[in-house]
Amino acid sequence: MSDYVQMWKDLGMDLQTHDALCQVLPTAFGDVYLSQENRPQAMGFWDFVVSEIHGIRPSELIEAQKQGQKVFGTFCVYVPDEVIIAANGIVTGLCGGSQFWVPGGEKVLPKSTCPLIKASVGARLDRTCPFFRIADMYVGETTCDGKKKAWEILGEDVPTYIMDIPQMKREKDIQKWADEIAEFTKVVEDLTGNKITAENLNAAIHTINERRKALARVFEARKSQVLPISGKDALLMMQIAFFDDPARCAQMSNKLADELEQRIKDGVSVFPAGTKRILLTGTPLAIPNWKLHHLIETSGAAVVCEEMCTGTRYFENLVDESQTTLEGQLMALAQRYLKTNCACFTPNTGRIEDILRMAKEYQVDGVIDVNLKFCCLYDTEGYTVEKALKKSGIPVLGIETDYTDTDAEQLRTRIEAFIEMLG
Ligand code: SF4
Ligand code: SF4
Repeated sequence: MSDYVQMWKDLGMDLQTHDALCQVLPTAFGDVYLSQENRPQAMGFWDFVVSEIHGIRPSELIEAQKQGQKVFGTFCVYVPDEVIIAANGIVTGLCGGSQFWVPGGEKVLPKSTCPLIKASVGARLDRTCPFFRIADMYVGETTCDGKKKAWEILGEDVPTYIMDIPQMKREKDIQKWADEIAEFTKVVEDLTGNKITAENLNAAIHTINERRKALARVFEARKSQVLPISGKDALLMMQIAFFDDPARCAQMSNKLADELEQRIKDGVSVFPAGTKRILLTGTPLAIPNWKLHHLIETSGAAVVCEEMCTGTRYFENLVDESQTTLEGQLMALAQRYLKTNCACFTPNTGRIEDILRMAKEYQVDGVIDVNLKFCCLYDTEGYTVEKALKKSGIPVLGIETDYTDTDAEQLRTRIEAFIEMLG
């Protein structure tokens, strides 16, 4: 990635510290990803993106900025990409998934904050991630307490707009979210200088729906007993989806889905017949957090689905494309986004129903409920999740972890015992 040194300098990055990150990533990726056998050929696209992760997409974003486009950095699947894209803006996900950034976050946040928040703040304040440098505006949300306070700190450094997300899903909450999205349209219009109309919003809704459908096709292939793709590879596709151009993401994911569907017809599986199938549920796994998938898939099982924001929550449910007025479209957006089931809502019975449905659809043998350390919301909801699974006779293992590798061997022992118990 050395060709991008001048770009990183211009972005005001700390090159010395950033070099340390650039040195470890290729080895980590090689160990976790390139060591897999019989991967779908289409994964070459995502391998390439990772090999250029701090270069190729950032340089595209900077080029777009030179042409007058604005880049919005987001941290949550409730922020509607459609509004930004309608105004010819660009969305990039910003959640940090590496321990590398955590100490930087701990300089200003309590240690007892979840690693995703600490890494995100550290990536910005330590100036070691180009995406965090490029974004013209951050868009936060009032989902969990840790994030709410983190926005105040990030807001000192970069323009930050906060969307006030409801905590319940009554009719009046859906209306409130539609109003909040309407206010967001004004903010996006002001920054981009472009008016959001029923026409451009309709086109943006279509673009994002197409991305959802493409990602869903890949997940559909994972329901097959002939497993044409590893959980690790599917996770990588999801993680990069947050950063990539949505139309290209849809195109490449459709290409991957074509290959997977052919593999199923040809009986090409990346795991031996009878490999135990695991559904992962819980907190998001932001790039490059591949720890659990790697542990599970090198312990004799396969991850076949993620009920997570870096999984089904990102693409399930389409926005109604039949609305012709802005008002109708904003309500359609609010309705779709509030179908997503995050533990920040109460009650959150929809998530339990989703997990039980997915356990059936993906023919899983067991569920691993994973919680990022210090995420009080998902930790607490784990009680309800595990109770419901046990009641349905589905084996479940609850795990709490962070981004370090210190617990890897202990986790491996527990995961192996769980897989063995599945018979
Ligand atoms: S877990 Fe909740 S707060 Fe975090 S990205 Fe997902 S929806 Fe947003
Ligand atoms: S994992 Fe939990 S604590 Fe961390 S950002 Fe998401 S909801 Fe907040």
